[in-house]
Amino acid sequence: MTAVVHTIAELRSALAGAGRVAFVPTMGALHDGHVQLFKHARPLGEVLVASVFVNPTQFGPEEDFDAYPRDLAADIERCAEAGVDLVFAPDTDEMYPLGTDGIVMVDPGELGRVLEGAARPTHFRGVLTVVAKLFAAVRPDVAVFGEKDFQQLALIRSMVRELAMDVEIEGCPIVREASGLALSSRNVYLSDAERESAAALSRALEAGRAAGSAGAEAVLAAARDVLEAAGIEPDYLVLTDPYLRPDPTSGPARLLVAVRVGTPRLLDNIDIHLPTHQPQD
Ligand code: AMP
Repeated sequence: MTAVVHTIAELRSALAGAGRVAFVPTMGALHDGHVQLFKHARPLGEVLVASVFVNPTQFGPEEDFDAYPRDLAADIERCAEAGVDLVFAPDTDEMYPLGTDGIVMVDPGELGRVLEGAARPTHFRGVLTVVAKLFAAVRPDVAVFGEKDFQQLALIRSMVRELAMDVEIEGCPIVREASGLALSSRNVYLSDAERESAAALSRALEAGRAAGSAGAEAVLAAARDVLEAAGIEPDYLVLTDPYLRPDPTSGPARLLVAVRVGTPRLLDNIDIHLPTHQPQD
């Protein structure tokens, strides 16, 4: 039986005396990507908690906070099917009792200002603030996040380290449609034509990965070619090291892309392996 609570007080009493707590934070509109996180998290704790909260502070003023898809009844059903024990679905007042202006927030630092942070300057401050609040409410032993939002995962790991939070962070691989398109709650905004062109993102990343043995330049060129052929001008296409530091030359790396296809902003990324020695001409 999946229980549903809406307040921190109810959450605390539901978890009193519980053993190890595994936690998956979400904004709802749950899809198979979220379900994969629940499955990953299930064996990591005796109790599995999922939160469903559309966090206003991570949306910019021109963004889709009001339009963001919401269906708590369907989300609860998905959670129940995936073995979630407890759903925490607070309202905005419960999470932000003093409102959202002028409150204490978590500054993400430099890493919060590049890539997604360059396009969405207040986004990661909102994400880290709500994740810190959720951790304080749930007090999990382990929390699971998707690699789909790779910069978010890196920043959450940094926050936990910097603020000495007593929680383990686990990353979970990206879940994709058969076309390769990474699942996202925002894909509902895509028209059929946009959905088709969005599939070029993962093809570009795969092409980049296949070029890995030829070095960083070749990776970027291969990915760029696929995007160009699909008529897609990315917001960014970058190769970083696994910690999102720029210009890796060898070893494990990450290729990240963001693009606006129609209304939504689509993100994707893939792991790349660069040769440990520079390729010879
Ligand atoms: P959201 O509800 O979009 O805030 O996402 C909640 C969690 O699910 C985040 O940790 C996301 O990275 C993760 N997530 C969303 N989509 C996917 C996906 N396609 N594959 C893996 N994880 C995902």
